[in-house]
Amino acid sequence: MKVYVQTDIEGIAGFCFRENRANPSPENLAHRRRMYRLLTNEVNAAVHAAFDSGADEVIVNDNHGSGYNILFEELDPRCRIIHGRNGSGPHWLPLLDESFDAMVLIGMHAMGATPCAIIPHSKWIVNDGALYLSEASMAAAIAGDHGVPAVMLSGDDKINAEVSAKIPGIESVVVKQALSPYMACSVIPARACEMIYEGVKRGLRRRKEIAPYVIPGPVRLNLLDSPDHCPPLSECGETVTAATIDAAFMKYEKAMSWNTFGQEQMDGFIFPS
Ligand SMILES: [Zn+2]
Repeated sequence: MKVYVQTDIEGIAGFCFRENRANPSPENLAHRRRMYRLLTNEVNAAVHAAFDSGADEVIVNDNHGSGYNILFEELDPRCRIIHGRNGSGPHWLPLLDESFDAMVLIGMHAMGATPCAIIPHSKWIVNDGALYLSEASMAAAIAGDHGVPAVMLSGDDKINAEVSAKIPGIESVVVKQALSPYMACSVIPARACEMIYEGVKRGLRRRKEIAPYVIPGPVRLNLLDSPDHCPPLSECGETVTAATIDAAFMKYEKAMSWNTFGQEQMDGFIFPS
């Protein structure tokens, strides 16, 4: 069994504020490192659960911000991790293909402008408003294009509600109840890891009962957001049309200036401070 673990940081237990990479204060650096450790522990709980469920290959995608957040030296040495300069690889979900048996989503956040959700951002508008997707449900839909079911998701109560409504039977692990965009009632990290471990085991056990999340094509797609992620949101680029959600997503992302998908030659990139 092959398992793809897609990760973000805003939905982990204990995360309440937007990351500030421009603030060099000792307090900010200590806080960021602390969040990286909590993220690492939650991801590791998912990886352990996958191997304990019979997986023989687990790939983790370190997908938040810089793409280099997880303390990988602390991960279960049986897994592999995709990390580095985010958006320079071949795809947003590199190496994901039909050979995987399941996707697991850790640390997910709600789509942009969701009321009372922790740090909501990114809102994909599909077919001119017939459907809206978060980053989490977009990842599940791209996996669905490859016939891969998303079997488990962790994050706050709002992202769990959105994805559970779209994917019947997905294991939903609520590690915090959002009380504002910047305040939550959270389980304690050790408990979050236990919940994630059990959730991944249940999801993988039931993976054949959970249908891949497929959005029928052709698809019209745009992204709603704002520079500081605060409402009102507006379209970030031109609407694209493609045969599948995966193709539409990559077509759209490749037009965004901050991505360099498919990069093969060095361009002087320096690790962000
Ligand atoms: Zn993130």
